[in-house]
Amino acid sequence: MNSGNGFLPIITGNLRRQSLASIDRDSDIFRQLRRPAEFDGGCGDCEFNTFCGGTRSRAFALTGNPLAGDPEVARAIEAVFDSPEHA
Ligand code: SF4
Repeated sequence: MNSGNGFLPIITGNLRRQSLASIDRDSDIFRQLRRPAEFDGGCGDCEFNTFCGGTRSRAFALTGNPLAGDPEVARAIEAVFDSPEHA
């Protein structure tokens, strides 16, 4: 079995039946991960999502959805804007 990575434990294919290239090219989750504009939450609308995209494994760990907005980044941004320097 092949998964996205050790921190994103989602089964993406079976290397006994498929080539690694076909899993990478054709699995639903890998196709979705290559379309950051369709991510949920702030990451989908973010102007930086094509080169950042948030941490997909963290989104999965905290929400159960690897395509969710990265919850920790939203908290970090809130912390910056709530800090006394931005008051
Ligand atoms: S983690 Fe932050 S900077 Fe990166 S895509 Fe998501 S909202 Fe944009």
